[in-house]
Amino acid sequence: MKILQIDHLGIAVPDMEAGKKFWSDVMGLKFEGSETVEEQKVTTVFFPVGESEVELLVSTSPDGPIAKFIEKNGGKGGFQHVAFRVENIEEALAELKEKGVKLIDETPRLGAAGCKIAFLHPKSTGGVLVEISERP
Ligand code: ZN
Repeated sequence: MKILQIDHLGIAVPDMEAGKKFWSDVMGLKFEGSETVEEQKVTTVFFPVGESEVELLVSTSPDGPIAKFIEKNGGKGGFQHVAFRVENIEEALAELKEKGVKLIDETPRLGAAGCKIAFLHPKSTGGVLVEISERP
């Protein structure tokens, strides 16, 4: 498996405008756009940082994974996952599986910006939700 770089940091926010205000007005990052991924019940807001990005995650539904994360976190947002860009996601998943890593996604699914993504189970990663992503 070849990891190319950190693709993005996923940060859950209960309120998109408050989140944007901090990352844009305070931190000075440039808002680059947003995209809703219906299947994951999430809207992602992108702020490029060099070759990587901060991605704010806002739930589009009270039963979505981000809404559940915020609920578990006492109603607050916070760091939710780290995504690594890999050269070939199918190869990476096969290798991780062979190494006994518990996978949330056995096969890649479609994420924002046409990326192929898959999540590894935090039980296998020391508690961190790890995403691997291949850019189109
Ligand atoms: Zn992500």
